[in-house]
Amino acid sequence: MRGTITRREFSKVLISGIAGTALGVFGGAGRAFGASRQVVVVGGGFGGATTAKYLKKLDPSISVTLVEPKAAYVTCPFSNWVLGGLKTMSEITVTYSHLSAGYGITVIAESAKSIDALASTVTLGSGRVLHYDRLVVSPGIDFKWGAVEGYSRSIAESMMPHAYQAGTQTELLRKQLLDMKDGGTVLICPPANPFRCPPGPYERASLIAHYLKERKPRSKIIILDAKEKFSKQALFSKGWAALYPGMIEWRGSTAGGKVLRVDPVAMSVMTEPGEVRADVINVIPPQRAGQIAVDAGLADAGGWCPVNPLSFESTIHPGIHVIGDACYAGPMPKSGFVASSQGKVAAAAIVRLLRGQDPVPPSLVNTCYSLIGPGYGISVAGVYRLSSEGIAEVPGSGGLTPIDADAEFLEQEAMFARAWYRNIVADIWG
Ligand SMILES: Cc1cc2nc3c(=O)[nH]c(=O)nc-3n(C[C@H](O)[C@H](O)[C@H](O)COP(=O)(O)OP(=O)(O)OC[C@H]3O[C@@H](n4cnc5c(N)ncnc54)[C@H](O)[C@@H]3O)c2cc1C
Repeated sequence: MRGTITRREFSKVLISGIAGTALGVFGGAGRAFGASRQVVVVGGGFGGATTAKYLKKLDPSISVTLVEPKAAYVTCPFSNWVLGGLKTMSEITVTYSHLSAGYGITVIAESAKSIDALASTVTLGSGRVLHYDRLVVSPGIDFKWGAVEGYSRSIAESMMPHAYQAGTQTELLRKQLLDMKDGGTVLICPPANPFRCPPGPYERASLIAHYLKERKPRSKIIILDAKEKFSKQALFSKGWAALYPGMIEWRGSTAGGKVLRVDPVAMSVMTEPGEVRADVINVIPPQRAGQIAVDAGLADAGGWCPVNPLSFESTIHPGIHVIGDACYAGPMPKSGFVASSQGKVAAAAIVRLLRGQDPVPPSLVNTCYSLIGPGYGISVAGVYRLSSEGIAEVPGSGGLTPIDADAEFLEQEAMFARAWYRNIVADIWG
């Protein structure tokens, strides 16, 4: 079963509004219930940190342990802004101090090494074993190394960064852009669907173009795409023509965009029409659920984790909830906003399940802003709820920035993007 719900579950009352609306069903936070219950959350990114915080907001009597090896988490959202010189790394880095000091969450700076679904335990890298009543797994993505011939983890770390997990990869790509000569060529090679942040590679092209236009205006960006179309394509194409005429060239998979292999020594990419040489090569490989989810047997043959969308409980291992990029969520894109939305739904469902109550069908929401230039933003939004087929987009909800939006509208979208980032970071880690 991939994300379907039973007729009985669906026939229960639907709560409308954003994901957070589901929290209202508890009639206020802080009602203790029964003996201390243990929830362990693996992964302190957009999904996991949201779940940990909202569990505590809903019921402070639950003992919540967040397992995350990084003391400081660098957000992928706005990492393209760092590449374009519009933000610094420190401006996109958060810590867990407020979650532990302000909310009483036990934060353990370690990796989860294995999960025993039968014994309900998580073993950490140090060998320490944590017992759970409910487990939340939000490990994000890992890459299908070997899917692109010639590309490997060590090539990514040294020569051709993917920069699709923010941090040292972002810094490496930024450094390569700074070191590149004027008149150089940047290649961006996005994967086929599904992958993390569908508009991400195209926002990246835009903000790299912004940097190059200011500092190295004779340079060029070529996008070699494994797809025939991409998210917000018409809006991106229009923005590129307006802000960076002639600088960004997009090649779809049947027009020479398909990458056959990469050659790090020659700094080239082989495509069907021939070899493309470049000075900076950003390969974004195909992806799957984070390794711990795969190792725990939570993923299916497609590489992602099937869940019951009512509670995001695994359909493979009961008692374990998988949220964020790692799970199948029907038409919802793999975004930070979505991961956080799902984190709230999972927290609400877990509190009810621990009280012996059924979860309430939620509504979920997504908005993805992309910046094409500092004062030129675009967005896509969607509202989702459960149907008998699983998660479905609410007809007529959401939408895109209008294609004929004027300069004032686009400037406002850029302003909303900044506000979105401030708000979501404060909501999750603040
Ligand atoms: C360039 C770029 C731009 C983006 N822009 C946007 C945007 O503007 N808006 C938006 O909504 N989304 C954006 N995204 C997507 C967003 O970053 C992801 O969808 C989001 O981070 C997914 O959240 P997650 O919790 O599933 O995974 P993550 O946020 O990746 O968190 C996973 C965490 O799990 C930890 N972890 C992994 N394995 C283990 C383990 N074994 N034990 C313990 N911890 C573990 C990792 O260290 C990591 O901190 C962007 C992505 C990219 C790459």
